[in-house]
Amino acid sequence: MKRIALFPGSFDPFTKGHEDIVLRGLRLFDEVIIGIGRNPRKERYFPLEQMIHLIEEAFRDYPAVRVISYDDLTASVAREAGARFLLRGLRNTTDFEYENGISQVNRYIYDEVETVFLITSPHLAPISSSIIRELHRYGQQVDEFLPYKLEAHPLGH
Ligand code: ADP
Repeated sequence: MKRIALFPGSFDPFTKGHEDIVLRGLRLFDEVIIGIGRNPRKERYFPLEQMIHLIEEAFRDYPAVRVISYDDLTASVAREAGARFLLRGLRNTTDFEYENGISQVNRYIYDEVETVFLITSPHLAPISSSIIRELHRYGQQVDEFLPYKLEAHPLGH
């Protein structure tokens, strides 16, 4: 049976930290699905369609990676996609506290799903989507933190 992992997140934006988790995930799984959770109550900073396009471009040489977006419970999406693994990155103890809770809930919803946590590579640990949004909002160049060129696709900001 194919080992499929769903890597869920907001990815607003998708960063080099996220890319690292996907690439390391590919050593463990046959397929990694990057799942962008859509939350109708939360407005995105980087528009969804462009982010999907940019992530697809970043992984165009990796046929085992695909990108989806969803507005549903992560565990239900994993079940429907045939993914028995959820992939998440752990940067620090704050991530751990949060992840501990959601991974319990996900297993309650879909009892066969296992969340696999990868400890962040140290040089990427300080990168967070929220810091990048803040830098970008005030006109700071952020391309060095992203696995694609934002400048070529200015995302409407
Ligand atoms: P969420 O809103 O679900 O926390 P994010 O898009 O912020 O979604 O993050 C998705 C996943 O990527 C989470 O598991 C998060 O811990 C992980 N992650 C975020 N930034 C990094 C990073 N710099 N290095 C490794 N993992 C990261």
